[in-house]
Amino acid sequence: MDPATPISTLKGVGSRREKVLNNHGISTIHDLLYYFPRRHLDRTTISPIRNFTKGDVVTLIGTVETFGEKSTRRGKIFQVIVSDGTGLLTLTWFNGVRYIKNLFKIGDKIAIHGKVDYYGGFTITHPEFDKLEKDDDPISTGKVIPLYSLTQELKSGGIDQRFLRQIVKEVLDLNSKIPEIFQQYILDEHDLISLKDALNKIHFSNGIGELNQAIHRLKFDEHFFLQLLMALRKRSLQHSGSLPLPDIGPYFKLISETLDFELTDAQKKVIKEIHSDLKNPIPMNRLLQGDVGSGKTIVSILISALAVGNSAQVAMMVPTEILARQHFHSFKSELEKVNIPCALLVGNMKKVDRSPILVGLENGKIPIVIGTHALIQEDVNFKNLGLVIVDEQHRFGVNQRAKLVEKGNNPHFLAMTATPIPRTLSITYHGDMDLSIIDEMPANRIPVVTKVVEPSRLGKVYQFIKDEVAAGRQCMVIYPLVEESEKSDLAAAVEAHKELDEKFFPDLNVGLIHGRMKADEKDNIMEKFSKNEISILVSTTVVEVGVDIPNATVMVIEHADRFGLTQLHQLRGRVGRGAEKSYCVLVKRNVTDTSRTRLSIMEETHDGFVIADEDLKLRGPGQFFGIKQSGFFKFKIANMVTDGPIIHMARKLAFEIVEKDPNLKNESNKMIREMFILDYSDRLDDISLS
Ligand code: ADP
Ligand code: MG
Repeated sequence: MDPATPISTLKGVGSRREKVLNNHGISTIHDLLYYFPRRHLDRTTISPIRNFTKGDVVTLIGTVETFGEKSTRRGKIFQVIVSDGTGLLTLTWFNGVRYIKNLFKIGDKIAIHGKVDYYGGFTITHPEFDKLEKDDDPISTGKVIPLYSLTQELKSGGIDQRFLRQIVKEVLDLNSKIPEIFQQYILDEHDLISLKDALNKIHFSNGIGELNQAIHRLKFDEHFFLQLLMALRKRSLQHSGSLPLPDIGPYFKLISETLDFELTDAQKKVIKEIHSDLKNPIPMNRLLQGDVGSGKTIVSILISALAVGNSAQVAMMVPTEILARQHFHSFKSELEKVNIPCALLVGNMKKVDRSPILVGLENGKIPIVIGTHALIQEDVNFKNLGLVIVDEQHRFGVNQRAKLVEKGNNPHFLAMTATPIPRTLSITYHGDMDLSIIDEMPANRIPVVTKVVEPSRLGKVYQFIKDEVAAGRQCMVIYPLVEESEKSDLAAAVEAHKELDEKFFPDLNVGLIHGRMKADEKDNIMEKFSKNEISILVSTTVVEVGVDIPNATVMVIEHADRFGLTQLHQLRGRVGRGAEKSYCVLVKRNVTDTSRTRLSIMEETHDGFVIADEDLKLRGPGQFFGIKQSGFFKFKIANMVTDGPIIHMARKLAFEIVEKDPNLKNESNKMIREMFILDYSDRLDDISLS
């Protein structure tokens, strides 16, 4: 049966049910089969009430003994008491009472899931629950019962657990021949059950063992198709010929010989990796990862000098103007030694300043340009753009990067990021790029002393800041700026600045910088801060990226609990850049224990990869990368954090298949191709599948 068959062909799916199912992304029988249960009820995972302890997250099956409404100080609540033969449990709802109270009858059997609390007896507040039919009980039947997500809309549209099971069963019975996508040897090698078995068992299995096999197979498929996309993307890049940059050249040598420090082994290693890519006539596509302060800038300068030594032009794009200026200064001070001209291109430049740069880039007299998004404007043209570098690459969209790359003839591409991305995530998210990691800090670094404090301790913190400033040093106070609530966050930072300036530090210069200020205002403030004309700088997170003020020794991060750990780590990297001992104070304003536990990781480690791992575990991949990228992962069952071994297997297989059959044209890959196109129809524009 064709997977595109509409669900309206199924028994009982009339136009009303069809509509609500469509609203939930279920239009075809394929969609229905891949609407996996959100939970499975299995005999072995059901806990008896007798064994509960406060804080457990449990699944149980109970019979409704009694229920009723109660008035409390907080308003009406609704309670149901259930028993499972070993004890009693109270279920409590604080809202939606009117709707909930009509759902129960004495004697009903229900499956319940939630966190156990204890108030004179065991209770679960706002549990997940499903009413069970007679034949649904996994204890008496020994079967695993699938529980699907049911929204209110589905329920009122006439779709309950029983109905979903019935139509899934109908499809599975009709589809006795769900085609396999992998050849038998692949299934054997990776210990995979057939797709047909997996789809049957994810819905209806006879035990947890079978269910786990099904989960394993379906996770494998999801990772496989994403890796296939990565393999195809990588492949499509490699087709295009680009200018090889084989020579070390005179500039690279001269600059590296005159550095006032010795490159770390890690820096030398990544330079080698990059250079060996540049020798090839296929474009490099490499991601350089290195913790804040690990010395990526000098690597990019040396690589740029190498490119210029091969007569290629270099464009480096960075997300903010402040950072562009800073990089420009770093580049210039090295490039002056070898007389390589270098230009800065940012937004809102005067025409008299901008025009000569455009001319120089077009006729090749300017070999290196550093800039913001201004670089991707249409009138920016190059004579021979051979290398594109993007710093803090996660700040740019794929299109922006592509626009810059298109200004050259298949230029080599180097992305840099200071966000340490856990390995498993990195091969999925950047699976089409090669990876270089600077995993070693320059030897002279002193770790930043980090402390989590309650607001009540701020008086002491401010005194400490006064002492540091008296000793000639500077301080930054960071306020969170979350996009959706930008206005109120901004107001908080402005307010804080006023208070610090007038109340706590009346004798010191307290500056304010935030993202809504005009570029030249920001530059002006940063200029003053770098000259130590401002002692304390109150800032929203604009300083997060790259800014280098070696004299700043104290960073106070307000509402630290609102930041991701990775972001805190980045911010903390802004201090401790000079010779003095530095401090980072995390002000915790959220009162929960979990925020304390989370933040304390910052006190314990300076290893960006350890922090990133924790961050990913705690917040999940969507949050980890920020809201913008959350649509990237289409996973229904796969888990980026815990599926490490499966990801590696799936990746290896996907790359092997594309290596042998780049267009997926072989008969043996026909089903793979079909499924892939079905799953990733919206991501096919940057790959070529002829
Ligand atoms: P990031 O990787 O965060 O971009 P930077 O490139 O800004 O780090 O480097 C941070 C500081 O460390 C700079 O002042 C740079 O000059 C210095 N630095 C870079 N490499 C070394 C090294 N091998 N030894 C000592 N200092 C270094
Ligand atoms: Mg940097």
